[in-house]
Amino acid sequence: MSMSLYALCLHPLHTLFSRNLAALKIGKKNQPTAAVAYADDITLIITVPNDLLKVRDIINSFEKASGVVININKSKALAIAGWDDTDTRAGFKFCPQLKILGTTFISTKARSSQLSWEPITKTIRAQAKLVYARNLNLTQRIQYVNSTLLARIWYLAQIFPPLNDLTNKMSTAINWYIWQGKIFRVPTATIQKRKLQGGWGLVDIGVKCKSLLINRLWKEGCKEDSATAAWLKYWNLAGSQGNPPNRLGKLQNMKYLLIYAYNMAYISPQSHNEKANAFQKRIYDSLYKMERAGLINIEPRISRQQPQADWNRVWENLHSAPFPEQMKATWYHIIHDLVPTKSRLAAIQLSALPQCDRCNKLDTIVHRLTNCSNSARIWRWTSARLAMDQRTTGADATDRHSSHSSRMDNETRLSPVASTAAPSNTMDNRPPCGFPGQQKAPYIRRFY
Ligand SMILES: [Zn+2]
Repeated sequence: MSMSLYALCLHPLHTLFSRNLAALKIGKKNQPTAAVAYADDITLIITVPNDLLKVRDIINSFEKASGVVININKSKALAIAGWDDTDTRAGFKFCPQLKILGTTFISTKARSSQLSWEPITKTIRAQAKLVYARNLNLTQRIQYVNSTLLARIWYLAQIFPPLNDLTNKMSTAINWYIWQGKIFRVPTATIQKRKLQGGWGLVDIGVKCKSLLINRLWKEGCKEDSATAAWLKYWNLAGSQGNPPNRLGKLQNMKYLLIYAYNMAYISPQSHNEKANAFQKRIYDSLYKMERAGLINIEPRISRQQPQADWNRVWENLHSAPFPEQMKATWYHIIHDLVPTKSRLAAIQLSALPQCDRCNKLDTIVHRLTNCSNSARIWRWTSARLAMDQRTTGADATDRHSSHSSRMDNETRLSPVASTAAPSNTMDNRPPCGFPGQQKAPYIRRFY
């Protein structure tokens, strides 16, 4: 049977339940909610004991009229708020917990949330372990985390806010999967930044979960007949919120409403011409900024160490370069100084000496890239290419090249990354193409 035909067959039963059961009524003016149907699942909300008999009568009537037989043994009931779970007049068995559309419900919200989140957390940790050994670069690993590994939690996040300890466990598993035991890594807060800010766009689990919950409550709250709209209206949370929020004391036992009230006070409501995706993204961005507001050291470590570099330019050049992602990922490690050089290892007592094993000079990232072994030749070639490139596009690279050799031994200069990934401000000051001062041919001949 097609889905449409099935819905048509089921509609009379759903209507009978909705019209005849006392149901759950939120506020005096709102429509009661007795039955919620999704695909072949019907969830009934019964608030009066005698409705159990009505349920049985409605099912009998539907069976006689339609000719179908409902297997009552497959239905389950959950008693909450002191309901007598020995009353089986409707033929339902009472269970200590119910699973509705993948979400576990039990008599308390906190326990329901825990029982729903625990298995999903275990699954994510097991999945991270399973795919750990795959040969993927940083970009691919982060893409996998954002689009596949965490996909299963986004649905649940719209119903129950995640528990902090479970969020931490998932974050730990993801970090372990992404960094694969590397000694040096950027902090999670850094890799969660956008690419043009020195990060790699790893999703912030806590922020994303909150944004999804808020977005769903907002969307449901905009539907006039929904139970969520009535519930938000009951708590005076419909529409835009006051800033700062001042009704939070009443919501202490309802964490999901507390999150909604607290955060929506700082997020302007969705405008008529704002698309759903844009609104969702705006919620995430706003929460992300709020989470980090007031934190110290939110800039990447490397940009704090070398404030003289034009870091916006570095990140832009890194990600706009026409190179494979694997190469960009390698450069990302180098820019952030994550290569386990002897000097870095010695600083944390993991190496006895900071000197290079090959040439016995101080082993730094600059040394490895520009001085040691073949890297010196590669670095000279790269510098020459850069000089030529600037020259052929109009930049005056004479000084840059002539002073190159003397600068090569100077460890205190700007890092090679900053000077190659961001070819310095001379690019901005170059004369326009065709102006006097351009000497393309000599430089081409000189280097090739
Ligand atoms: Zn060396």
